[in-house]
Amino acid sequence: MSQDGKYQESELVCPICAQNIFKQSHSLLSSRTKTYLGLDWTNPTADMHICFNCLHILWFLDKAIGMQGESLVWQDEQPLICPLCQEEKLISRETLLSDKATTMFNTDWGNPAALNYICTSCGFMQWFLNAADGEGGETVTVADHELHCTRCNHAHFERSTTLLSSRSATLLHLDWTSPEADTYTCTRCGNIEWFQQG
Ligand SMILES: [Zn+2]
Ligand SMILES: [Zn+2]
Ligand SMILES: [Zn+2]
Repeated sequence: MSQDGKYQESELVCPICAQNIFKQSHSLLSSRTKTYLGLDWTNPTADMHICFNCLHILWFLDKAIGMQGESLVWQDEQPLICPLCQEEKLISRETLLSDKATTMFNTDWGNPAALNYICTSCGFMQWFLNAADGEGGETVTVADHELHCTRCNHAHFERSTTLLSSRSATLLHLDWTSPEADTYTCTRCGNIEWFQQG
């Protein structure tokens, strides 16, 4: 880690396939109220580090670094700790999970919102959906690896497709043309694993 807490690419390892080569991208963190009001482009932009091998996405929000944060517990009663640097002080926010069709028809404010827990030391973002009940879901294979939840090691997921928004496209009302990611939500703990579509 560098002086200001930011992770350098050379220090990151993909938790899915253990490779350490990433490409960088950015995505707008949409929110329901601002999307509804047409102000979605004023939301913060997160950095994505995308594994070159399996396309797993690691998310970071630098502006969380140095914020006060608090110790939080998830619904499985386990403390939420940054999996990268073990920091316990996190900030939380809600981010809208948009898709192409609803964004095109300007009804994306009705999409489900994920809960983010963001590390105040390194900026790493965890994503959760509340819907998990421990039942159902499917097994997933990514780049020859059977996917296991990076938080609880469960192997069953609900799959969906989520738009990776951008500020400029949102401002121009072209956000529905943005790239999409596959999102797999762990049916036990609700943790979301993100993969850029290949
Ligand atoms: Zn990988
Ligand atoms: Zn951290
Ligand atoms: Zn899990």
